[in-house]
This record gives sequence, C-alpha cells and structure tokens, in this order.
Amino acid sequence: MVQMQMRHLRIWRGSLAKKTNTEIVLKGIAAAPGIVAGHAFLLDLQDFIVPERVIYDEEVFVEIARFEEAVLHTKNEIQDIKEKIEKEVGGKDAQIFDAHLLVLEDCMLIDEVKKRIKSGKMSAEYSFSQVLKRYVEIFEKIQDEYIKERSADVTDIGRRVLKHLMGETKLLDFDMITDELIVVAHDISPSDAVSMYNKKILGFLTDVGGRTAHTAIIAKSLGVPAVVGLKDATLRISNQDYLIVDGRKGVVIINPTEETKRLYIKEKGRFDEAEGSLVNIKDVPAETIDHHRVGLLANFELHGELPAVQKSGAEGIGLYRTEFFYMNRLDLPSEEEQYQSYRKIAEAVNPHPVVIRTLDLGGDKFLSSIQLPKEMTPFLGARAIRLCLEEPEIFRTQLRAILRASVHGNVMMMYPMIAGPGELRAANTILKGVKQRLRDKNIPFNENMPVGVMIEVPSAAMTADLLAKEASFFSIGTNDLIQYTLAVDRANEKTAQFYEPGHPAVLRLIRRTISAAHDAGIKVSVCGEMASDPTLAVILLGLGVDAFSMSSTSIPKIKRAIRSLNFADTQEIARQALKLSTGQEVEDFIISETIKRVPDFYVFDSHKNKDGES
Ligand code: PEP
Ligand code: MG
Repeated sequence: MVQMQMRHLRIWRGSLAKKTNTEIVLKGIAAAPGIVAGHAFLLDLQDFIVPERVIYDEEVFVEIARFEEAVLHTKNEIQDIKEKIEKEVGGKDAQIFDAHLLVLEDCMLIDEVKKRIKSGKMSAEYSFSQVLKRYVEIFEKIQDEYIKERSADVTDIGRRVLKHLMGETKLLDFDMITDELIVVAHDISPSDAVSMYNKKILGFLTDVGGRTAHTAIIAKSLGVPAVVGLKDATLRISNQDYLIVDGRKGVVIINPTEETKRLYIKEKGRFDEAEGSLVNIKDVPAETIDHHRVGLLANFELHGELPAVQKSGAEGIGLYRTEFFYMNRLDLPSEEEQYQSYRKIAEAVNPHPVVIRTLDLGGDKFLSSIQLPKEMTPFLGARAIRLCLEEPEIFRTQLRAILRASVHGNVMMMYPMIAGPGELRAANTILKGVKQRLRDKNIPFNENMPVGVMIEVPSAAMTADLLAKEASFFSIGTNDLIQYTLAVDRANEKTAQFYEPGHPAVLRLIRRTISAAHDAGIKVSVCGEMASDPTLAVILLGLGVDAFSMSSTSIPKIKRAIRSLNFADTQEIARQALKLSTGQEVEDFIISETIKRVPDFYVFDSHKNKDGES
C-alpha cells in the first residue's frame, strides 16, 4: 500500500517534471544483453486490459465487496497523496485530486457497477471497466473543453481502482505498440513480459527488479536487451525520449549527444562482430582444451523459442519452465493440450533430452486462471512443488501429460523447490498413482522416465546425499539457491548488492551437491543464471558440474568460454576460490586468474577486462 502511494506520487511528479534535452546516464542492473537505441514508450500511461470473467451467483456479494474495498483503498490512497502534495508543494497543486475524489464519490457510477455485477454476473473488474469505458466515451463526445478534459481524471481513477482489483494479474496489451519502441515501466510482471513475444519491442527498462527475476529471464529468452532496477527511470524518462540501452552493462542514456550516439554505434558494431564470430561454434562440442566435455543445454520458456534453441547448438533443453505455458490465458491448459505441446518439443529436440520441470508457480509468477491467496512473502509461501501438492488435480493433469509425451523422445522430468526427501516422496507418490492409472488404461508411457530434483533450497543441498538416493539427477537452480541461502529477494533491486553468486556459502552448497550426486553416481547440472555468466561458469566447471543449461542466446558465448579453458586450471581456480571470504573476492580472483590464462576471455564483456570500461 505504502509502495503504491509513493508510486502514484512519483507518476504525478513525473508528469510535472520539466523535460530537458540534456544527456542523462542511468545505471541499473544488466538483465539481458545487447545494445539498442530508439524512442521510449511509457507503459504506465497505458490502460489495463481486463479479462471477461463470469462469476457464479454466490460470488456476486464477494465481487461487490471487492469493488467497494477497491474504491475505498483508492480514496484513501488519493487522500494521502493529496495531503503529501499539500505539504510539499501547496494546496493549489493538490486540487487536481479533488476531481479524482469526486469521481469516486459519484453514486451513479458506483451503483451502475454494482448493478452490472449483479445482473451481468461478471467480475468486479470487468463490470467496472465496462462502466468506465462508457463514461470516458460520454465525456469525450462533449464539446465543452473543460468537461472533455475530465475524461482524463476518470481514466486515471479507473486505472487506480483496477490496480487494486487486479494486482499482479493485470494483462497488458503490447499489440498497441505498432512502432519499434523501448518499453519503460515501473514494473513488468513475468506474464506481461511473455506477452511481449513477437511484438515490436526493441528493449525494456524497469524501475524495479533483479537480474534473476523471471521478468529479466524472459527478456533474455525474447532476445530483447533489458535493464532493470533503475529505481526512478519512469520519473526521468518521458514518452518519446530518445534512448540508448546497453543491456550488458545495465546502462541507459537519455537524450544522448551526437558524440555518444557515434560511440555506441561503434560499440554495437564490436558487440555484433564478436557475436558473429560465434556462428561456426554451433556444431563443435563444449569441451575444454584438455578434453573435458560437459553438456550445454537450453532453458526454454516460450514455444516460439524452438528455432532459437536449435540454432544455438544446444544439446537439448535442460530446463523447460512449464508455468509460462499456463500464463496469459484465462483457463488452465488441458491434459491433451499439454501433451501435444510437450510431445512437439520432445520430438523437435530428439535424440537430445528435454527436461520438463513441473509447475513452478508462486514467488513472482502468477496466473489469471488460479486466484492464489495473497501472501506476505510469496517466495517463501505456497510456491512450486508445495502448491502442486496442495492442488493435486492440477499436478496430476500435468504429470499425465508429461508421461504420455515421454514415449515421443528423450523426456526427463524434475520437481522445483524440493526442500528435502519428504517432499520428493510426496511428489513421487502422486506420480506413482498417475502411472498406475495410465497402465490400467493401457496408455503408453516411458516406465523409466528419469525423475530429477532441482536443488534450489539450502535444505535440499544439505540433504543432497539423501535426495541422491531417490533422484535420477540433480539440477541446481542457483537463482533460488542464492536467494534462499543469502536471504535476498532475487527480484528486489534494493537488495541487489547482497545477491552474491560467488558467496562462500553458495559455493559450499554447490560443492556439497555435486559431490553427493557423484558419490551416488548421478549427474548434476546448473540451470540458474550463474551458468550463463562466463566468470561463474569457470568455477562451476572447476567444481565438476556435468552440464550447463541457460537461455539459448548465451550458449555460443559460454561454449566459447569453455573451449578456451583447461579443466585442470578451472579445478585449481575453484580450489583456491573456495578459500576466499566474500563473493566479490571470489569473482575478482576468477577474473584475474582467467585473464592470465586466456587474455581475450571477456571479448563480450569488455568492461570486465583489466583496462576497465570499453
Ligand atoms: C533457479 O532457481 O535457478 C531456476 C533455474 O529456476 P527459476 O529461475 O525458474 O526459479
Ligand atoms: Mg528456481
């Protein structure tokens, strides 16, 4: 709530901020690589797209109550903002909020919405959005300029009420963007990011977010350069400002001078050339100079990614984040729909494996089709396997679809966020039941489909020896392992400096997991973002990881890195690094030791070279 209020205050101030044409450089968190330039498109100025949701008779009162509550929250919010503005700038500027309050007190509008909920049997947000549209249309048809302008107040109020009603599940319509633009938003949810697929979006920037938040991960999958955690980008950038976005360094330049533009054209040329030099690497193995070979696989979120996966030279899919298949739709995908989709992917990558991860919802990923209760700390709540165990029917449907697809290729399956052997057994019990029912109905499936465990909770790493007895393989989810080990929200820009992949605690848990897996004779891969960072890949390799899985756009770069190294050197670097005390010390050590041996190791991240900024 407090965050919301501040947010609106900032939007208001932003709209009053005087626009200048001087060059401004913003530094945020590098989320997805690449350099682009173009005009800004501020997403906060756009409308909500409200799904049509039919309600049952018994829900009518709940929806009316939700609506009344949203109106009340909005009123309080505006009142608070008004008081702040009065204090900070004076009463006259605060008067615009009186008009907003009047809209919320308009009995006709309020009654009409309630009537619609009752008679139309539609959700509060849908009924409200329909009434709102009608109001805006009426206002816009009126000749009087003053009254016409009031339609902006109605729209603004509408957005606020809808934010209260829809929260995380809001859907944005990127089809509205018909020119190539750079999207600038306070926040973009992972499902909103997914809907950017195939749209004319050059890149995106957000005020909030961390490098391993799922929105950043989706940006990589889309191949769209992105910078997150810019704190106040929406305040500083105006619609149509010309921007340069450097997704490798996390830098955004507003209104660049001609000189800066020239520099960036050169820099982009260098980056593109380095990328171009990798086309020949596609068909060679991920093998070190001293012939140590590892697997290099792709992470997969969106169906349209298949061609990119195949082009990247990935040896299969090491992590299929299935929850994205459930997003941006109003219903749950049926068993048949899931089966067809998993089958298509399995056939496309065959004989290589596809590792299908069962639903990982919650945390920062939500659906329109399942209304989850709001939690204070969703990353620690009913997320992933916990949710599946709570909702066994949703889980069973997915398991049936995966098992049926398992006869069409090299299908493997893994559970996310397992905290220990108890949860693994509970999941496997459900799996066993599903298998039996398929057998009873003579539906074919692979009886020996490997079932693995993601190691992304410290308790799982600590019990890796026990888990290894009951799992076919491990996949270390470092994004979560780091967040849970260091108690740092992976999606929060304010704590980004504490999110240290090289932290000794993280490295020890990884080492422990690898040795438990190898002692039990099973393989271990890393599918978190650590795998796609060349510096951290050095230590993962040295610690003995068998396979790396990452966004397909990162594969050539990491393959090049692996091929330039000696495994024996990485083992020595890992041994030494594990004696160090902080994440920063570890990263600095790996960088300097690697450059000593491979001087052009950081050809893509030249800012990591000793000579500093490129
Ligand atoms: C991870 O946690 O590292 C992981 C790969 O899973 P996700 O990023 O989807 O949480
Ligand atoms: Mg995870």
